[in-house]
Amino acid sequence: MAKGKNDDTNPPANSQGGGRDDSSFRGRKVTTCSFCGKTSRDVGPMVEGPSEVYICSHCTELCQNIFRQERRRVSTVTTALREVPSPREIKDYLDQYVIGQDQGKKALSVAVHNHYKRLLHLESAEAGSVELDKSNILLIGPTGSGKTLLAKTLARMLKVPFAIGDATTLTEAGYVGEDVENLLLKLLQAADFDLEAAQRGIIYIDEIDKIGKTSNNVSITRDVSGEGVQQSLLKMLEGTTSNVPPQGGRKHPEQQYIQMDTTNVLFICGGTFVGLEEIIRRRLGKTRIGFNIDLDRARGEESASRVLSQVTADDMIEFGMIPEFVGRLPVLAPLMPLSVDALINILTEPKNAIVRQYQHLFGLEGAKLTFTDGALRALAEKAVKRDTGARALRAVMEELMIDLMYQLPDLDNAGAEYIIDEKAVTSKRQLSELRLHKESA
Ligand code: ADP
Repeated sequence: MAKGKNDDTNPPANSQGGGRDDSSFRGRKVTTCSFCGKTSRDVGPMVEGPSEVYICSHCTELCQNIFRQERRRVSTVTTALREVPSPREIKDYLDQYVIGQDQGKKALSVAVHNHYKRLLHLESAEAGSVELDKSNILLIGPTGSGKTLLAKTLARMLKVPFAIGDATTLTEAGYVGEDVENLLLKLLQAADFDLEAAQRGIIYIDEIDKIGKTSNNVSITRDVSGEGVQQSLLKMLEGTTSNVPPQGGRKHPEQQYIQMDTTNVLFICGGTFVGLEEIIRRRLGKTRIGFNIDLDRARGEESASRVLSQVTADDMIEFGMIPEFVGRLPVLAPLMPLSVDALINILTEPKNAIVRQYQHLFGLEGAKLTFTDGALRALAEKAVKRDTGARALRAVMEELMIDLMYQLPDLDNAGAEYIIDEKAVTSKRQLSELRLHKESA
């Protein structure tokens, strides 16, 4: 804090030496700016602070500018993320769209909360007192268990730009395929080239397990081991300034690049990690004496979730991911295979549930559509057999509905109600046969 003005006519009381009051000059006190080192002879009067600290008018002006810029920057960041939602609020939002996966959702909610807290912290005055680590997230779970959906839903909630990439298409620069920087370009595009916004966005990278160094990829046009891709991804995950080619594609020496800093980009990686469960089981079998894994194995699905929920970084390394890579994905969130009951919920519960979508389409034609509980179970059972998680639900549903939707506009639908029961799912029926006649209702 400035104590008072110290100029040639008003010298500070006991000012001598330090920051600095250089001896007198023709009887006048000569002070030195503690910031730029210039003397009062060169830059005129200065303001004195405690402990003989001086600042010249040039430096105060500079400080004003810095403060102004900083205020502007903080206000843009805090407008976008004025308040970081609590983990519970994040999970509540996810619950509206993603069924089950409680453990994964909790891990994700906490990690995301911390990530954006960290961003606000970096902008705040206490920055520098404690360093908060970046917490990129690894979602481990079978196909169609909701990994992409979770990442996408999160981005929507936080209103930050979001991009999806696939690790299998990524290659080291110079090989046939996509450069890692293209992921950043996608994020920039999602942010309408607003660099500030993109730098706080979320990137989801799918199939990350496929770039394990033990992968058996023998293509010669591609980075064979995948390790090169892991290395370039490593830098990005940790935080680096990447040169992003604005037009995408190959890097070109004459091209103008956009410099993008990935320090605050949240990376969520996902993979199925087939065989990981076995690795965890082996470890648990080894370390937990007297624990009967066979018994556990017999319990099937339920035990699979219990095993997966104990995944550690060491298991990932044994799976074939390079340790540095695993180290940069400190949050491991396992997702479970979806049961028939979960699939039934997925059909009906989420805000954009498939059943609701078809009911809406029928509604537009003036008709009501109802699925019986038996029909929903039959659909879910059909889907579960395909082993692609909830992904199969849409396919199974479409197979059932395509003919019915085709016939719908041909019928007189005013006030009509159609009931889809179990039989309608297992054997083909005409739409007119599903019509509920008011008199028989
Ligand atoms: P993956 O785990 O392979 O990334 P996705 O998230 O892409 O799976 O899921 C494919 C589709 O299945 C999604 O678009 C969504 O409609 C549905 N789905 C998957 N898991 C869930 C879930 N837990 N809750 C609701 N819908 C889900």
